[in-house]
Amino acid sequence: MLKGTGVSAGIGIGKALLIEEHSLEYTPVTITEPQAEKERFNDAVKTFCENTKKQADALRISAGDKEAEIMLGHISLIEDPFLTGEVEKLIEGGQCAEAALEQMCDMFISIFSAAEDDLTRQRAADVRDVKAGMLGVLLGIEDVKIGDAPKGSVIVVRELTPSMIAEIKKENIAGIIAETGSTTSHSAILARVLEIPAVMSVDDAMLSIRGGDTVICDGSAGVVIVSPVEEELKEYEAKRERFVREKAELDKFRGKPTVSADGIRYELVCNIGKPDDAAKAVDNDGEGVGLFRTEFLFMDKTSVPTEDEQFDAYKKAALILKEKPLIIRTLDIGGDKEIPYLGLEKEDNPFMGFRAIRYCLKYRSLFKTQLRAILRASAFGNISIMFPLITCVEEVRAGKLLVDEIMEELRAEGIAFDEGIKVGIMVETAAAAVIADILAKESDFFSIGTNDLTGYTMACDRGNGNVAYLYSVMQPSVLRMIKRTIECAAREGIPVGMCGEAAADPLMTPLLISFGLTEFSVSAPSVLRLRKNIASWTKERADEVAAEAMRLETQAEIKEYLSSVIG
Ligand code: PEP
Ligand code: MG
Repeated sequence: MLKGTGVSAGIGIGKALLIEEHSLEYTPVTITEPQAEKERFNDAVKTFCENTKKQADALRISAGDKEAEIMLGHISLIEDPFLTGEVEKLIEGGQCAEAALEQMCDMFISIFSAAEDDLTRQRAADVRDVKAGMLGVLLGIEDVKIGDAPKGSVIVVRELTPSMIAEIKKENIAGIIAETGSTTSHSAILARVLEIPAVMSVDDAMLSIRGGDTVICDGSAGVVIVSPVEEELKEYEAKRERFVREKAELDKFRGKPTVSADGIRYELVCNIGKPDDAAKAVDNDGEGVGLFRTEFLFMDKTSVPTEDEQFDAYKKAALILKEKPLIIRTLDIGGDKEIPYLGLEKEDNPFMGFRAIRYCLKYRSLFKTQLRAILRASAFGNISIMFPLITCVEEVRAGKLLVDEIMEELRAEGIAFDEGIKVGIMVETAAAAVIADILAKESDFFSIGTNDLTGYTMACDRGNGNVAYLYSVMQPSVLRMIKRTIECAAREGIPVGMCGEAAADPLMTPLLISFGLTEFSVSAPSVLRLRKNIASWTKERADEVAAEAMRLETQAEIKEYLSSVIG
């Protein structure tokens, strides 16, 4: 079994077709007639653009307008006056067109490859694609004929380029395996649009797979199985059928609003940990982001990310989401989330200790840096701020005061931000749920964090096997906490979401609809399933189910009852 990154979900089973790239080697010659060489270069640009335009047209039909833009981007790249001007200068200096083009493209590739952010690094792949295409034209080499792949082929390639994808006849390709690439590669995006299962970053795929081998490409799990045995084949054929069936069912809900059977509208957003995950939220039809766990930006580094680094990350997520909402939760460290360089002292009881908002309110400069970055990014999208682990109203007031102070500073510095930015809180402690009436007066919105709320209400650590039996969101105590929080929010007229795992639990849906939750924030792959689930409930029926569930006295009874109703 080979492992990689699943970039396009689904199961592909077929015969491996190895795409060997043609050698683009040439012997550089010194040019004595630069004018003729420049003409040769410009002719090649014209041919390249014509070919690329055809690929874009093909992609427009197979994938869509947005996808065709990726190929048209290649045309803009090669027609960039700076690039062509520099190539011409190099030709005038005596270099042949191939060498001049290669030198300039390599320069861009190394600049883009060194970039911090993934999206810019992906641009390097685009330039490599343009370079290979242009060299092919200059050297008179035919493109790799991926378009001739017979039905049932699983493409195996070193790097999958957008132009290869543009050539693909979707109905012939069962799967794609590439040695390089990641979820945000243009070609990965295209594979998702074309719904071809794909696994990328599979080390040595070209060495481990031979042309004609039967291969299973599991784009959901990021796994490749070469020459599967009979049993594996049967297992994956069944998986493929299930995937196709479920997908067809869920796709009916793509692009649709999230509404209950009686027409009540809900917001269905996603939880993310990295700016790039915002793209996954959009791909999965999320209506925005209800929780950006910013601690991952801190965990991925060896020192505190600077204001600019954080600003870039928040802005990037905001730009990906366009006008869709983006709730950024301020640093939630401590408990099980350690960040060694912050020098948190070892505590006897870290979940009860110096963490999250408590830490931030003490280390104000670190908190201020983060809030400044969020506020600056708020000029680029629909951003809200959310404080974690609130237990008393003083914490909300102190956090908001700091936000006000920073706003004053930014105004004085003439830096743009959203003057109307909303500041809300996580309700994830028993204390917060109990005083939700007080907190609702100070907060623009609530988001219920059931992962922690369950632990703090039941005084139990889910990691401790001896008490794990107590850890359930369906404990009557936890359900009462949730109900009360939602009712207090409604009384104050503020929106109330849920970003804990329970938001995606189908057994919880009728209860949350009945209590009056307004926003569900879940992992991106859960979006369509939850939308379908919400669509199956009316408020009246949800109220009946919730009333019965809330009459029951134990977690086991509640779970059994909900399972019997929902099936
Ligand atoms: C929660 O506690 O439910 C929550 C969403 O926050 P986290 O899981 O990041 O603690
Ligand atoms: Mg939490």
